[in-house]
Amino acid sequence: MSNRPQVNPSILDIAAYVPGKSKAAAGIEPVKLSANESPLGASPKAVEAYRAHASNLSIYPDGSVTSLREAIGEVHGLDPSRIGVGAGSDELLHLIAQLYLSPGDEAIMSQFGFLVYPIVTKGAGGVPVFAAEKDLKADVDALLGAVTERTKIMYLANPNNPTGSYLAADELDRLHAGLPKDVLLVIDAAYAEYVNASDYKIGLDLVDAHDNVVVTRTFSKIGLASVRVGWLYGPDHFLDAFNRLRGPFNINGPAMTAAAAAARDVTFTKELCSYNARLRDMLVEKLQSNWFKTRGSQGNFVLTEFGDEPGYTASDVFNELLEHGLVVREMGGYGLPHALRISIGREEDLNKLVQIVHGMQKN
Ligand SMILES: *Cc1c(COP(=O)(O)O)cnc(C)c1O
Repeated sequence: MSNRPQVNPSILDIAAYVPGKSKAAAGIEPVKLSANESPLGASPKAVEAYRAHASNLSIYPDGSVTSLREAIGEVHGLDPSRIGVGAGSDELLHLIAQLYLSPGDEAIMSQFGFLVYPIVTKGAGGVPVFAAEKDLKADVDALLGAVTERTKIMYLANPNNPTGSYLAADELDRLHAGLPKDVLLVIDAAYAEYVNASDYKIGLDLVDAHDNVVVTRTFSKIGLASVRVGWLYGPDHFLDAFNRLRGPFNINGPAMTAAAAAARDVTFTKELCSYNARLRDMLVEKLQSNWFKTRGSQGNFVLTEFGDEPGYTASDVFNELLEHGLVVREMGGYGLPHALRISIGREEDLNKLVQIVHGMQKN
């Protein structure tokens, strides 16, 4: 017998998620370009709604989250009874894993997919299975080739964090068509608001037409990262199970009202999207040279890749930026140590970043 309580071994197998840094060199106020937060902050209407809730703090929130589900349904043209809400899409992903994975079951994800998928999979006793990517993009054939009799879930971030790549509508359809009917396809569309590609689709049509597709969304990337609200759209049988497992008051009152106001502030979301696209294009264009390259992206971030020459590696650039108070995201945890992920922030900060990186230019 052991002399203290023993944690479920599959939990100890989890590599804890390491959030982006938010500290710069001593004495400098850091500019955080490391967590894909909104480049324009929160919708002023959401802030106002959040404040207004302060007089109701002693009252339990509405456990059925009706007003928020109705707001989301109205704005996105969806049936509120098929919408589920969680404390960030992180909570949704944990709940989905618990709903479908028994110990030993497999969940498929792409090689450079979002780091939360292996965590939630192991948390439920499942086994993460990684499908190789081609040129930092999810590969439909590799994903489908990874399916076994033990596969219960496939996670796809579309667009993907941290690569910024995406599967076009026809590729998404092909992925779904190749899946067995008893495998749940989880389409994580955390960056849907930022997509400009005309051949992209979120996949809500797949949810409507099939029993094995769930789409997850979040308010975090459009200005409410701190209040923790994510939502999903799924089939009735999924929502029935989801509502049994989730905490009865998993969304707090101020978060609920703030998110409903943010959902309805469509003008703000559009502004966010065009502001982001302009600066993202600027970065993709300017962060190119003979020693680093930046990929196109559909999110509110870009991925820049560096070589291995001493003094000019990703980590050298990271440190140089940090010296100037700019905090970007190192990618070692994602298996991309030669790359840095740069969130779209304020224009002056991004211009400064471009200048600093080019200032390291070799002769
Ligand atoms: C940021 C992010 C999320 C979730 O964020 P929450 O803050 O938990 O809603 C989900 N998926 C991807 C791919 C992300 O980048």
